[in-house]
Order: sequence, then structure tokens, then C-alpha cells
Amino acid sequence: MGAVAVVGGGIAGLTAAYRLKQRGTRVVVYEAGDRVGGSIRTERRDGYIAELGPNALASPSPALRALIAELGLEPSLLPASPAAKNRYVLRKGKLLPLPLSPQALLTTRLLSNGAKLAVFGEPLVEAGESPVEESIATFVRRRFNQEVLDYVANPFVGGIYAGDPEQLSVRLALPKLYALERTHGSVIKAFGSMMRARKRDAEAGAAAVAGGLMSFRSGLSELPEALGRALHAEIRLRAPVTQLRAGPRGWTVGAAFQQSELYDGVVWAAPAHRVDELDLDFPGADRLRTLASISHPPVAVLGLGFRREDVTHPLDGFGFLVPEVERRHVLGVIFASTLFPGRAPEGHVTLTAFVGGVRNPDLANADLPTITARVLDDLRALLGARGEPTFRTFSYWPKAIPQYDLTYGRYREIMDDVERRNPGLALAGSYREGISIAEVVASAEAAARVGAGG
Ligand SMILES: Cc1cc2nc3c(=O)[nH]c(=O)nc-3n(C[C@H](O)[C@H](O)[C@H](O)COP(=O)(O)OP(=O)(O)OC[C@H]3O[C@@H](n4cnc5c(N)ncnc54)[C@H](O)[C@@H]3O)c2cc1C
Repeated sequence: MGAVAVVGGGIAGLTAAYRLKQRGTRVVVYEAGDRVGGSIRTERRDGYIAELGPNALASPSPALRALIAELGLEPSLLPASPAAKNRYVLRKGKLLPLPLSPQALLTTRLLSNGAKLAVFGEPLVEAGESPVEESIATFVRRRFNQEVLDYVANPFVGGIYAGDPEQLSVRLALPKLYALERTHGSVIKAFGSMMRARKRDAEAGAAAVAGGLMSFRSGLSELPEALGRALHAEIRLRAPVTQLRAGPRGWTVGAAFQQSELYDGVVWAAPAHRVDELDLDFPGADRLRTLASISHPPVAVLGLGFRREDVTHPLDGFGFLVPEVERRHVLGVIFASTLFPGRAPEGHVTLTAFVGGVRNPDLANADLPTITARVLDDLRALLGARGEPTFRTFSYWPKAIPQYDLTYGRYREIMDDVERRNPGLALAGSYREGISIAEVVASAEAAARVGAGG
């Protein structure tokens, strides 16, 4: 294909544009803001490297690993520190490590004996075939019990989606979990074989630390920055697209402060919630506009540095997650300087707190002094933090993460239908096939191949 416009310079748009350019397509990336990377944003200041969006690549897919290698980023790739293996969950005001082995499960205080029985008994629960879309909460109650939902599933869904397990579809939001019941007949049996495989890999020397989490020496922004360098001449910043029209000669793309231009194809890689702000004219445009009603709760991220001696907790883990029933302010906190080395100056630590989500949108939308006070309350009570932070950074995401809820299947059908009816249009991004960076990259590779790349 001759020329393709890519709308959005987040990781989806950059990846799609990079692949299109590699195949000899003329490509222009229109980015509304004044920087590329979208949700991926690293701040480097005063000896700290702080993530204001995602913190880690979780088990990067082969496609993402290939992209990293092609961009020459492999020497900078940083596996999570083995010290980050523990994941704490709050119960009755205490941070307790999530049990990661049957022995640990037997002795943990995170779950009552009744919940432990539900976990050990889960392989005996018959696989269910739900006639309607099943929520994560219903799935977990069906296979385990309410307490496992409250103290395991709820905090994890808060940590990944800033979402509510009662609202999210298990099939669409956690497809791997959903598939385990189908492939192994049991989540616990499947986890058992995965743990054994991981142990074998670890013994064979493969990188299996802290669940395969990765970043780069100077933070996750290294990835969009490298793509930005490779696409330098093709990127237009401060160029929000306002018009997409299909006509007999191709696609007319209009953007603020730019002359309209004609393209053979378009990749929409801006967030779903922006789609109704544009003047759209192509088959199915009205249906596509409904994607703007996908729920995206707000999240605020507060990164704080402390002197090591001012935090009493050993910080020997990835961080902690908070079950909703525990009624604290934060959704969770990442022990960022434990997770990856080099994130804080000698003798200091960094903690990254997340607030808001579906659970508490008002707090994410509050002013910075209020958010800081609430986060500090939790850090003092739960980690024994004291004194003034030595570093502060903050980011507010008013529409942070698309919620793959019980109605999401309908949006998927609309996306597939609109792509079918418009061979020159492809949709990529966190709203397409999954919210993790690896899934977003996969959607962009597909968009570059199928939709616009031909
Ligand atoms: C707080 C937070 C924590 C996260 N943690 C993790 C994590 O640890 N691991 C993980 O794998 N994932 C994580 N995620 C998810 C992951 O970061 C995102 O799913 C992914 O970065 C989204 O990329 P994207 O390109 O689809 O969208 P975005 O990053 O949102 O990029 C879209 C771009 O489009 C631009 N744009 C919008 N409208 C227009 C327009 N009209 N014209 C032109 N440009 C436009 C925007 O300015 C933006 O730059 C997290 C997300 C958030 C918000």
C-alpha cells in the first residue's frame, strides 16, 4: 500500500508505523500531544527513574522481544530483581505475602481454612458452561469462594485494570484464566503445571525471575523513544486528527493545524474514548463512534522517594495490593526500587502508589495535596514510612484503562465489522485485544499487516 496515516503516537501507533515503514509504506504518525509514548511515561530526575504509567512488561511475547531486539534495545533490557518475587496483599491491616506454593498456602494467614479448602478443592469443581457472559467475580465464586474473590481476585483486578471483578468479563478481560478451565478443567491444576515448568526453566538457566517482568535501564520509555527515533521524520506532534473520511480516491485525514491529506489507509491507534470527537465518514462510522462509551476509569499515580531508613518495611517484593473490603485509599503500591535496580539514588527507595479506578474515581480526580495526604496515610500505616519524601512525581490519567466489561463483546463485534467493511482501516491499541503492552504491540502488528498494510 502506498501511504498510511497512523492516528496516535502511543506504543500501538508507533509499532504499527514502524512495521509499515519497514515494508516500504509511506507513513505519517499524527500525535495529539507534544511527546510520543502515550501512557508509557518515565520521569528521570534527581537520580530517580520513576514510571508514571506502566511499570513493567509482563512476560514479553516473542513478537515484543523481536521488536526490542530490532530496535537495538536488548543490551538495555532489565529483568525484574529476584527480590521482587513476593507480592503482598493487605488483610486486617497487615501485609501478607501471596502464597506461591502448596506449602505456603497451607500456612498463610491471608486465607481462612475455609478458603484454603476451596483452593485445594477447586480441581474437583466441574467446568461450567455459562450461557451468558460471566464476570470474573462469578467465575471465582463458582470455582473457589467469596473469600478468594475478596482477597485474591479483587486486589489483582484492581492492580491490573483498576477495575471491578463484578463488572469485568472473565472471557474478555482475563482470557488466559478463562482458557485454563477449558484446557485443564481446573485453574489450580493449570497453575501447578505452570509453576513446575517455570521451575524447570529456572533450573535450566532461563530468565524466570519475578514472573518474567522486564523493563529497560532508563525506564519503559526507552521503547517508545527508540521507535520515535526510528520514525523521526514521520511523526507530527501537536497534530490531533479531527476528520477521517473515506472516498473514491482514498482516505482524507484532517488534523488541527495541518492541511488535509489523502492516504490509502488509516490505522486508528488513539484511545477508543476519543473516537466520537472526530468527524467520521465511512461505512459503519456511527457504530464505531459507540466505542467512546467504553468505560475508562481515572487513575492517579504518585511516585514518592524516601530515605531507606525512613521506611520500616523490608520492601522485599514487587509491592502490595489492597482488597476493596480493606477500605484503604490506595489500590496498590509498587516497591519500584526493589522491582528494578537503579531506580533511586544510593540509600533511598521509591514507592509508586496508584489511586482511583472504578473503586474510587473521586480520589483520582481530587487535587494533588488531597491525593498526597491520603497516600501518605496509607504508606505510614502499612509500610511504616515517616518523614518528608525526598522525591515526588505525579501523573493523572483521566481515562486510564478500557474496561473489558460484560458488554465488551458487542464492541469487539463492531470493531471487526467496521474493519471488514473498510479494508483500508485498521484498529489497534489497548481497547482491541488486551491492555498489556505485549497485547497492544500484537494488535499493532496485526493492524500493520492486515488492515492497512495489505
Ligand atoms: C497507570 C497505568 C499503568 C499501567 N501499567 C501497565 C503495566 O505495568 N504493564 C503493562 O503491560 N501495561 C500497563 N498499562 C497499560 C498500557 O500502558 C497501555 O495499555 C498501553 O500503553 C496503551 O497504548 P496505546 O498506544 O493503545 O494507547 P495510548 O498510550 O493511550 O496512546 C494513544 C495516543 O493517541 C494520542 N491521541 C489521542 N487522540 C488523538 C487524536 N485525535 N489524534 C492524534 N493522536 C491522538 C494520545 O495523545 C496518545 O499519545 C498501564 C496503563 C496505565 C494508564
